[in-house]
Amino acid sequence: VEAESQELVDGSLIDLCGATLLWRTAEGLSRTPTVKHLEALRQEINAARPQCPVGFNTLAFPSMRRKDTPDEKQPWVYLQCGHVHGYHNWGSHRDRDRLDRDQEEREQGRQEGRSRECPMCRARGPYVPLWLGCEASFYLDTAPPTHAFSPCGHVCSEKTAVFWSQIPLPHGTHTFHASCPFCAQQLSGEQGYVRLIFQGPLD
Ligand SMILES: [Zn+2]
Ligand SMILES: [Zn+2]
Repeated sequence: VEAESQELVDGSLIDLCGATLLWRTAEGLSRTPTVKHLEALRQEINAARPQCPVGFNTLAFPSMRRKDTPDEKQPWVYLQCGHVHGYHNWGSHRDRDRLDRDQEEREQGRQEGRSRECPMCRARGPYVPLWLGCEASFYLDTAPPTHAFSPCGHVCSEKTAVFWSQIPLPHGTHTFHASCPFCAQQLSGEQGYVRLIFQGPLD
């Protein structure tokens, strides 16, 4: 945070007895996407048919409705480098056993946050599913969602990612750290977010 002041401007954070409020002015909100706009952005990304560079399957962000388990086309990212992939091992075998095993592996992977090696660049790090942040008022602009918070995988625009990664939010009474606005998870890694590298369709 650059400066503390008594003046409320767009994006001000108000500490109210431990609860942090985000102050948005009407003008600031007019630059914020609506839920409809977010849905349009989602469809735009999906229309570009991002692909898994390994499995060559087309990836797609699931609809905004909150879900707990990633679905088949969900994009995943290596947080170390930003390379976006589909979930590996989810290939041509589509028998039930396989699906169950993959499901299990994904659950395990999520719980352990185990690190994996990116097949594109060999960077090692956590491999997490990407989710579009669906709370429109946390967005600072309507730019395409090209960045993701680390380690939770919430996707938003670059400006939004940079903004939130620099805002220390109170955690308990004495500690402050930058958190993902969508899920309140403490950000990790050098910057707290990663630029996503999508692989387009190979024609
Ligand atoms: Zn990589
Ligand atoms: Zn998050």
